[in-house]
Amino acid sequence: MQKPLYRRIALIGLGLIGSSLARAVRRGALADHIAGHARSEATRDLSMKLGFLDSVHATAEAAVEGADLVVLATPLGAYEAVLEKIAPHLAPGATVTDVGSCKASVAEAFARHLPDGVHGIPGHPVAGTENSGPDAGFATLFKDRFCIITPEESTDQAALDRLVALWEGVGSQVELMDSRHHDRVLAITSHLPHLIAYTIVGTASDLESQLTRERADERALVETREVIKYSAGGFRDFTRIAGSDPVMWRDVFTQNKEAVLEMLGRFQEDLVALQRAIRWGEADKLEEWFTRTREIRRGVVELGQAGRFYATERNGGDGEGDER
Ligand code: NAP
Repeated sequence: MQKPLYRRIALIGLGLIGSSLARAVRRGALADHIAGHARSEATRDLSMKLGFLDSVHATAEAAVEGADLVVLATPLGAYEAVLEKIAPHLAPGATVTDVGSCKASVAEAFARHLPDGVHGIPGHPVAGTENSGPDAGFATLFKDRFCIITPEESTDQAALDRLVALWEGVGSQVELMDSRHHDRVLAITSHLPHLIAYTIVGTASDLESQLTRERADERALVETREVIKYSAGGFRDFTRIAGSDPVMWRDVFTQNKEAVLEMLGRFQEDLVALQRAIRWGEADKLEEWFTRTREIRRGVVELGQAGRFYATERNGGDGEGDER
């Protein structure tokens, strides 16, 4: 497809994902003009200073004016209000897409708000880090990562092809998927792992206060400083995930409720099975389980999706992110 792919891309939300997309689009010369809008003046000013936008706008309406591609990159909970505001200002024939971590709710919101003649095509780059804001972004975040696009049967083929070309242009491997299927897959691969991390880190931080309240035996007390000091035992990987943006994850769990609850039910059953195996000293059962899970890890590594935590262009790493 001929470059640039779009005349004017409008980004609503200039955080980790929005700013990374802007940087990657600019690097690939995929658009003539990148316009941006974020809620706060501080973020808008910083974005201009960082230099990944051609123009910044105090309102979303002004940013989308004349755009042939609009990308929503705010937390999911802001979509309804943003769509309501921008709908009357969208150019006929424009495409509206997004980067949110849930897809069925987005498809419904697009159907509710977008006028006829505007193509709503939800998307989700399965890449990210636990950092937020315009200065957390980097141009290679999407390189060699999957981007899932969830068109409907009625989606305009030319608009879809152009959007696919954009994500491929920033280095992603594009997969097309039904939006409900997306939400079930991500519930187990991303949303449940985050819930588990939030739980375990919360449990560890509660230990000290509870034991203190109960005036436990000194020897039974697990202090927060010990949890931090000995975190290399496995805990630190959970703290990395549990350090993710609270607002983003609040919205994920409220918008992908059904799929998450289904996967959580299955997880709880398996946890009880393992608890039982430990109680009854069923060593073979435990070893068999851990051997099977090791195979899954090998599969992730072989597919090149193991990621490199914390590596960004700024700190001299290879710029690879995590899968979200
Ligand atoms: P982020 O770094 O926290 O950035 C969010 C941006 O949205 C900020 O620029 C914020 O502006 C802006 N914003 C918030 N509410 C707004 C509103 N009402 N109107 C206009 N702008 C608003 O978040 P992110 O990590 O880039 O996540 C953005 C989206 O990407 C989420 O929907 C998330 O589900 C999805 N996603 C995230 C990851 C990840 O790992 N982080 C991965 C894949 C997909 P201010 O700074 O002015 O508040």
